[in-house]
Amino acid sequence: MAIYNPKSHIAEEFINHEEILETIRYAEENKNNVELIDQILEKARPRKTEDGIRCAGLTHREASVLLACDIPEKIEDMYRLAKEIKLAFYGNRIVLFAPLYLSNYCINGCVYCPYHTKNKHITRMKLTQEEVRKEVIALQDMGHKRLAIEAGEHPTMNPIEYILECINTIYSIHHKNGAIRRVNVNIAATTVENYRKLKEAGIGTYILFQETYHKESYLELHPTGPKHDYAYHTEAMDRAMEGGIDDVGLGVLFGLEKYKYEFAGLLMHAEHLEAAYGVGPHTISVPRVKRADDIDPSVFDNGLSDDIFEKIIACIRIAAPYTGMIISTRESQQVREKVLELGISQISGASRTSVGGYTEEERPHDSEQFDVSDQRTLDEVVNWLIDRGHIPSFCTACYREGRTGDRFMSLCKSGQILNCCHPNALMTLAEYLTDYASEDTKEKGFALIEKELQKIPREKTRQIAERNVEAIKSSNSRDFRF
Ligand code: SAM
Repeated sequence: MAIYNPKSHIAEEFINHEEILETIRYAEENKNNVELIDQILEKARPRKTEDGIRCAGLTHREASVLLACDIPEKIEDMYRLAKEIKLAFYGNRIVLFAPLYLSNYCINGCVYCPYHTKNKHITRMKLTQEEVRKEVIALQDMGHKRLAIEAGEHPTMNPIEYILECINTIYSIHHKNGAIRRVNVNIAATTVENYRKLKEAGIGTYILFQETYHKESYLELHPTGPKHDYAYHTEAMDRAMEGGIDDVGLGVLFGLEKYKYEFAGLLMHAEHLEAAYGVGPHTISVPRVKRADDIDPSVFDNGLSDDIFEKIIACIRIAAPYTGMIISTRESQQVREKVLELGISQISGASRTSVGGYTEEERPHDSEQFDVSDQRTLDEVVNWLIDRGHIPSFCTACYREGRTGDRFMSLCKSGQILNCCHPNALMTLAEYLTDYASEDTKEKGFALIEKELQKIPREKTRQIAERNVEAIKSSNSRDFRF
């Protein structure tokens, strides 16, 4: 039997089945232990220190106690704390991005994904470089600056060379004032050598969802193809780190397995990265299984209610205070509205989950990976965020200034976000408003920028930011950053 060891590089030692079962037992026993719950909440509170703000975070055991707790007042306390932590490290900024599907050729057998190899009727497509160009121009014309590229796993149709070529193409396109300044990559687990190549190609975050941490279920849900190898998949982030990628994004596909198990596994994975590499995950995503071409999500009997889903998000925020949290358009406007108050820091907008989807007038369904719930345009999403008191941000400065891995985390902890990320968000929002927004969004957005500029504490920084916003409005000068 494997022994739990967060520093180990062996999947079943850092994601340890016995430890997860023990954690669930401990959480169940303590779910009404108000004294312990209060202690845990107290431990997780943000504290001012000489050089910034610190949060202790929580262990998977502590966080699992919070997740198990059903006491309404305590859940309210959790939600308040989650919001407080989000504001302490990420302010009221929400970063926007869009997925770009390159190819749905896939040799895996994932039973929840319509791209599985046995699906013979789905339209298989792979973008040529000319098609990548068209998609990127369509995304730039909406106002996007940050993409997550997505592809199935296929050694001959989508080899690493194809992915690298697409990344090059994406970065090379500058249509009008547009540019894609950060490309995150969500492709199947690969080798250290390939991760090194991705790093050299200038990617932002390498994202890979674990789908489920439960090994037995994992093997059943991935019956065929290279993804069947649980250890290879689970140890992918270790290889990515070895290949020099220090911004990695974790995620679970909620609905496949029991959520308490997944939650503990996810936090153990984050603890492992911290213990083994000194830096936690850059992001955590929380996708839920959705209806898709030949996929009926109700066949997986672990679907979550919105209430539980919200509690999971708040508890992750409290446990992993410095990690970005992502919600996609798999979720409806209502759910997104709620979870934006519980710790989410990045959202996708105007997404198309089909290969070539951005150049089609109508939303194409024949090559979609899953149904999109939130189908609003980017302008509508930006407008809605502003109405709800968030700053829509198109910032990509950190990684372009070399602030990745622990350097990003130090900035996060330093409390300097108001002198750095905040003005960057405002300047990139000014770019969006000037180049792409509707009149209504523009009006509201510039009023917000005016107000938010006053919150920049350092006078010199505020003056520079004000000057840059004016330059963006009145000229084609773009891409200012701190
Ligand atoms: N092919 C890559 C891999 O295997 O990791 C990554 C790309 S895949 C396009 C991105 C993610 O979509 C998967 O990791 C999975 O979690 C999610 N996904 C697949 N089918 C889904 C469904 N029916 N509903 C919601 N999300 C789904």
